[in-house]
This record gives sequence, structure tokens and C-alpha cells, in this order.
Amino acid sequence: MSKDKKFVEAITDMDVDFPRWYTDVVKKAELVDYSSVRGCMVIRPYGYAIWENIQSNLDKMFKETGHENVYMPMFIPESLLQKEADHIEGFAPEVAWVTHGGSEELGERLCVRPTSETLFAEHYSKIVNSYKDLPKLYNQWCSVVRWEKTTRPFLRTLEFLWQEGHTAHRTAEDAQEETLRMLDVYGRLCEEYLAIPVIKGRKTEKEKFAGAEATYTIESLMHDGKALQCGTSHYFGDGFAKAFDIQFTDSDGKMKHVHQTSWGVTTRLIGAIIMVHGDNSGLMLPPKIAPKQLVIIPVAQHKEGVLEKANELKERLSKEFRVQLDDSDKKPGWKYSEYEMKGVPLRVEIGPKDIEKNQAVLVRRDTREKVFVSLDELEAKITETLDSIQNDMLEAARTRQTEKTSVATDYDTFKETVANRPGFIKAMWCEDRACEEKIKEDTGASSRCMPFHDQEPIADTCICCEKPAKKLVYWGRAY
Ligand code: AMP
Ligand code: ZN
Repeated sequence: MSKDKKFVEAITDMDVDFPRWYTDVVKKAELVDYSSVRGCMVIRPYGYAIWENIQSNLDKMFKETGHENVYMPMFIPESLLQKEADHIEGFAPEVAWVTHGGSEELGERLCVRPTSETLFAEHYSKIVNSYKDLPKLYNQWCSVVRWEKTTRPFLRTLEFLWQEGHTAHRTAEDAQEETLRMLDVYGRLCEEYLAIPVIKGRKTEKEKFAGAEATYTIESLMHDGKALQCGTSHYFGDGFAKAFDIQFTDSDGKMKHVHQTSWGVTTRLIGAIIMVHGDNSGLMLPPKIAPKQLVIIPVAQHKEGVLEKANELKERLSKEFRVQLDDSDKKPGWKYSEYEMKGVPLRVEIGPKDIEKNQAVLVRRDTREKVFVSLDELEAKITETLDSIQNDMLEAARTRQTEKTSVATDYDTFKETVANRPGFIKAMWCEDRACEEKIKEDTGASSRCMPFHDQEPIADTCICCEKPAKKLVYWGRAY
């Protein structure tokens, strides 16, 4: 067996065992390493570079929509966390506590932030006095800790990196607008940068964030037909404002409570990229966030002039693209597999014959399509190809999502669909939590969202209890 073949065979086939395929990819593409702390991960340079690209694009969008970055402490005193009743009730089971400083027991336990609504609320109560102080549009980049029972790299970890936006507004309408504006920003990030098509919608009461009046979500479908909540945006009304006494004097001279929002996306998005785009050769990264957009591989590099040309190309192309040159002494075939595994969108091969003909070979990671390009028009052709990879990856994912979206108008069909055709299932619901719980118990499918784009009733009765239906819901098994 040749060495390159062995390299590829080292990943589990995704159709045989998807979870193992996933862990193989995160390890072999050198995105993460496991650590000695359960549920935590070491994010390696290649994985972190993806996060940095997500971060810089998103941060730009935050700034463009008027937000400012701040930093809050990582500890929350127990008394502060308890001020808003629903919030503490929701988060208590997954909070980590600091009880000692050195050998001294603390007078009051400190929780390691699972999210920072309470800290922002306390701060806003001090700095918001007049309507002129509003809105406050803050965001922070940090890590948070939630003591999850089952974990998986990127998708669900005890500590994860994220951004959390927390805003305070003069009116309910302003806050509601902000909630949806930031959901749109997340939708744009996913579709335009990560090439992940998302379903935007509202969460049910059961699935909404602890302390929120309404939670909105972007949901996507993985290769195996399971759903993933990629990000959430919450509208709080004046619940936190009342609990934390965040009041301001309005222009009419009256004291009023602010209306608030919060919104977050995490390193889970890297898991989504892996599971939406990857294949049996490994990762497939969208050009806009790939740490390296192209890799140059010299062919017959011992021949005169090849390495010089490859280095010259690297220097030239680095002016416009994120470029890697692999001039190690491994065989080209091995290198091809390696960079396919790492999901580099485009491979540029250059050998003695190409040099003679003043050309290079471009090979796409997504379609494996191979074209010969004159060195005189290399930049233009690479730009064009990276653009079409980016678009085609989104379209391919959209097609898979559409193919994996089913409709059910009776419970038997619903159950059969969950069991045999994993994906989103559209079905009507009576808005009763008991039905939602029964569906989860019977099938393992949870309500993903009530989608904005798809509200037209498809039946008159609830899929579960057959009482009059009120909402169209996308259901599915989820990560
Ligand atoms: P939340 O503050 O609960 O709305 O969470 C914000 C987002 O974080 C969710 O929409 C998920 O996409 C993501 N998320 C939640 N829990 C985890 C976790 N344990 N690890 C990674 N990402 C998470
Ligand atoms: Zn029902």
C-alpha cells in the first residue's frame, strides 16, 4: 500500500461512523488536541487561525453596526447571579464555582461566568442615567464556562471562546430591532463567509434562553442530517432592567427602565464548518476564512529551477492571498492528501513541464477540478476560482439542506421520517409544551425553530395531539 493511500485511509468513512469521522478530522487536520481537563480542548494554530478569521470578519460587522468592545471580569458573585430569577434557575445546573482563594474560604462564592448578562446589567445600572446615554451597544470577546455533561470538540465544550453582545435601549422597539439586526449579522457571517446556509427563526418557550422574553436562532444542517444551533440572539424586554434597577430619565422627564438584548456565537461555528463541508478526504474550508487559501506544491522539485519558481510564486501570490508553500521532501501525492485533509481550497502545482510552458496547474478542493493557467494571468484566475469555490460551497450545502428537509402532516410519517431520513422536518404544532416534550421523548427530535421564511400552515392540526395547530415548526435531532 502506498504511503498517500494510508494517509487518507486513516480517517473513518463518514457514512460508516459520522461521530468518529468528525473526531478523526479535528485531530488529523490538527485543529485541536485533547487536554487533561474533561471537556476542554487545546485549540492548535490551524484551528485558532480559523477562529481568528471568523473573529476579525465578525468584529468588523459589529463595528459597522455601531458596537464597542469591552471586557468584564470572569467571576460573578453568587448574589449578583441570583438577582434575575429565571436566569439563575436556567444556569445553576451548569455553573462552576470558585470557593477558595489560596487556602482561604471565600465569604461569598464566585461563579465562573457562563454568560455575562448580570455583569453588564450591574454596570449599566451605574452608567445609564439619561436617555442621552442610550443606546449602549457593548460586546466582549472572551471565554465562558458551562459544566456540560457530554462534550465534543468545538460543538460543546466546558470552556468555549465566544463573543457576547449586550445592549441597552430606550424603547422595546429599539431593542427588538437590535435583536433581529444581530441575528441578520450572524446569518450574513454564516452564509457569506462560512458558506453555511441557515434557517432563521424564533425558539419555542421551552428552548429559549433563561431570562429572555424571546430567543431567535440560526439553525443549520450537518452532513449527517442533524441540526446545529449556530448562534442565538435574545430579547430581554425590561426583565433584567427591573431586577438590576437600570433606569434613565427620558426626554419627558419620566424615569424609565431600559430594554435589553444579548447575542452570541462561539467556537462551535468551527464544528459547523467541519460538519457542513467536510468529506471523506477531510476538511473543506471556505476560501474567505481558510487560514491558507492556496498551497503551492512543487512537482519534481529536485529538477533545476523548480524550487526557485515555486518560491517566486509564493512571494508573488502572497501579495494577494494567504499562501503556503510546501517544499518539504515528502512526495507530491502525500502532500496532495495532506492539504486535502486540511481543507485548503486551492492547490497550485508547478513542475518542470509547467515552467517550460509558462503555466501552473490549479486543483480545487471542492470539485477536484483541474485547470492549466498561464502564469501571466495567475492572480486573476485564482481570484475567480476562489470566488466560485466560495459560492459553490454555499450552493452545495443549500442543496443538501433542501434535500434533507421533509414535511410531515401525521405523527406516523413524522416518526418514520426522524428514524429514516435525518434532517429538518416541517410540521405543525399546537404551542403546548407537553407535545414538544412528547415528540422529543418519542423520536429524539427537538423543536429547532419557528422559521421566519416559512410560516404558511401546512395542516390544521398539531402533529402530536391533533388539536388545532398554531405554529409551523422545524424539528430535528440536534447536536
Ligand atoms: P446562549 O448564550 O446559551 O444563547 O449560547 C450562545 C451560543 O453558544 C448558542 O447558540 C450555541 O451555538 C453556543 N453554545 C452553547 N453552549 C455551547 C458549548 N458548550 N460549547 C460551544 N458552544 C456552545
Ligand atoms: Zn399538540
